[in-house]
Amino acid sequence: NESKAPDPLNNVEKRCAATPSSAQRLVKKGATLLLEAGAGLHSGYSDKEYEEVGVTIIDDVNVALSTVDMLVAVNKPSDTQLALMKKGAIVVGHLDPFFQQPLIESIAEKGLTAISVEMIPRSSRAQKMDALSSQASLAGYVMVMQAANKLPSILPMMMTPSGTIKPAKVFIIGAGVAGLQAIATAKRLGANVLAYDTRAVVAEQVESLGGKFLNIDIGETGQTKDGYAKELTDEQKAKQQEAQRDAIADSDIVITTAQLFGRKPPVLIAKETLALMKPGSVVVDMAATSGGNVEGSVAGDTVEINGVTVIGNGYWSQYVAKAATDMYANNIYNLIDEFFDDETKTFGLNLEDDILAGCVIAHDGNITNDMLNNAYK
Ligand code: NAD
Repeated sequence: NESKAPDPLNNVEKRCAATPSSAQRLVKKGATLLLEAGAGLHSGYSDKEYEEVGVTIIDDVNVALSTVDMLVAVNKPSDTQLALMKKGAIVVGHLDPFFQQPLIESIAEKGLTAISVEMIPRSSRAQKMDALSSQASLAGYVMVMQAANKLPSILPMMMTPSGTIKPAKVFIIGAGVAGLQAIATAKRLGANVLAYDTRAVVAEQVESLGGKFLNIDIGETGQTKDGYAKELTDEQKAKQQEAQRDAIADSDIVITTAQLFGRKPPVLIAKETLALMKPGSVVVDMAATSGGNVEGSVAGDTVEINGVTVIGNGYWSQYVAKAATDMYANNIYNLIDEFFDDETKTFGLNLEDDILAGCVIAHDGNITNDMLNNAYK
């Protein structure tokens, strides 16, 4: 697995696509499993644990690649790895398809089938396979922990004979999967939490977690049929930034989690707004590695801007690699289990199925997803 950009975790993918438990369940179904030596170590799983449930550990992945029907990765395989795979084999992973056109086209040209976990539909049936959500939930937790770690104060109120410390003010912008988990985590730590999202429907969810919703009137916003935010007009973007300014200036911690599916994330905090924050306050830009919600954040790094710590580390779920692996391995197991053909002991590629119709993005020499075909024009 190759990571995307330089990152504070030394460019080593910490997660693994299988746990001994998920591997055991796959072996029981009749699958033959090969695992790269040491792949589970960062998640606390030794090679021995995998071997005990019937997995073959291999030192050199490249040697085995020409034999496999399916390569399950966390990220995307390298060109060298793809070149070694046999025609018709399936590649599964976070393939980042909107931003990896050459890779996806080369997968299609080689006659491989690509399953992009980002494209798994947001349906009830597919929830158990939804890796974007499982990793985003962990990201929400990790971002609060990292912010708390950098804040020169504490999150809860503390009343002692030596004085009273007021609870920290935390503002979360974007209340999707990651944002809601960040709200819950900050609340558990005792902070006062305010949140905003362009999808007004989430106000109730924010409040049910004990957060306050910042009401801003920026006109018609709404969401797509898959529940993703629609992009704002320039006028709406300006209104949002203006209306958030006081809340940002007044916060000890601001966490931005806004994404637009398949597009660059929106800029939410301009340099001038950041300059209004108190020295010592902390901003976490969840989107730093994919374009940035915060002007001045640095992808894969933590920087100080006028005394404000701006965390753009990215790779959030890898900071809790065991939890991330446990969830991702379950997502992958559930995907394979759903489509496993018990007679042939192989993955059944039924492209009529709505889940596979969404996440199989290259097959039989073609890019098979309309959204991507449009984006690649
Ligand atoms: P996401 O990662 O695409 O975006 C994160 C959040 O940022 C979203 O809530 C979005 O509305 C918000 N956002 C975008 N632009 C913004 C802006 N300018 N200012 C403030 N916020 C902005 O979204 P997500 O977390 O993947 O979730 C999107 C929706 O999909 C949620 O409603 C979630 O509950 C839903 N969902 C459904 C399923 C399912 O049904 N199986 C699974 C996962 C998520």
